[in-house]
Amino acid sequence: MSGLSLLPWQAPALSEALDRLRTSAAVIHGDAGGGQLELALALAKAWLCEAPRAPGAPMAPGCDACPSCHLVDQGYHPDLKVIVPEALQASLGWEHGPDDAGDDKGDGKKRKPSAEIKVDAIRQVVTFSQSTVSRGRAKVVVVHPADRMNTIAANTLLKTLEEPPGHVRFVLSCGSLDDLLPTVRSRCQAWRLPTPEAAQVREWLQGQGGTRLSDADAEMVLAAAGGSPQGALELLQMGWSPELWRGVLPDIERGRAGNWASWPLPKVVDLLQKLCHDLACLCAGGAARFFPADALHAQGQLERLTAWSIELRKVQRHADHPWNGPLKIEALLFQARRAVASGKRV
Ligand SMILES: [Zn+2]
Repeated sequence: MSGLSLLPWQAPALSEALDRLRTSAAVIHGDAGGGQLELALALAKAWLCEAPRAPGAPMAPGCDACPSCHLVDQGYHPDLKVIVPEALQASLGWEHGPDDAGDDKGDGKKRKPSAEIKVDAIRQVVTFSQSTVSRGRAKVVVVHPADRMNTIAANTLLKTLEEPPGHVRFVLSCGSLDDLLPTVRSRCQAWRLPTPEAAQVREWLQGQGGTRLSDADAEMVLAAAGGSPQGALELLQMGWSPELWRGVLPDIERGRAGNWASWPLPKVVDLLQKLCHDLACLCAGGAARFFPADALHAQGQLERLTAWSIELRKVQRHADHPWNGPLKIEALLFQARRAVASGKRV
């Protein structure tokens, strides 16, 4: 189930987290796609590691050799509970557990994996926390991303977070702390994931196989992903290229669907939101953030772009629904073309 290892630049962050996080409930926050889950699992592994340690010695990362570390790596540690949304389980290649009931709606049709963390999963956490420790060291619960807990799930977790049984440690993770319910946030020690050096991320992206990326292209894809290393990798895996990215605005102006139009709907909406953001910035005399400045030109009217951004936000709320994708893309393209048009003709 696990198989996730620390990102190459995270070793110092892990040492710092082991040193700083001493309460029973912690929340790791930082830009989405920065490796929060990898770090949370590494913390769990360290806390559960059974390698001998001198009394009072500082916590060290998992030894990778003891039975406990092996069990964490294989995803079968009886004292570790990892809660992620079903949709993320699927994209990580983790199999659904035997208790993930409800794979079909009773009519034989597969249900779409949920992007939320539901109350059933949190009830399992409560039961897990109350049971005895299997291997004698501790019990660890990882909830990622914690802001995907729906309100009922979050409220169900509160009591256990507030008064956890002595041997249980919680690691929650999220993008922005503001995305968590204040009641959850206030019960956890917050720790911000350090931002990695751009050069380290660039090197990592360049080592990910597939296309060979120049330094400039690596920087471009990182900007396209809003600075998120894992987001940039995901873009590359979806077929992102500098040409595709530079072609987005010309594609739209010609009413043409570029290769990006075949991405999953939420990704297309995200791309359009980034374009809308950058054009609005240029319009207002600011700088583009996601697209290279020379791939855009200041055009359109701010009012029209603002109206477009409101429309896109509405679509974004429902973008996960498997509604008639191609039709939706066509409508989005039409809307985009109208929004970026200059002059008064449209
Ligand atoms: Zn170990």
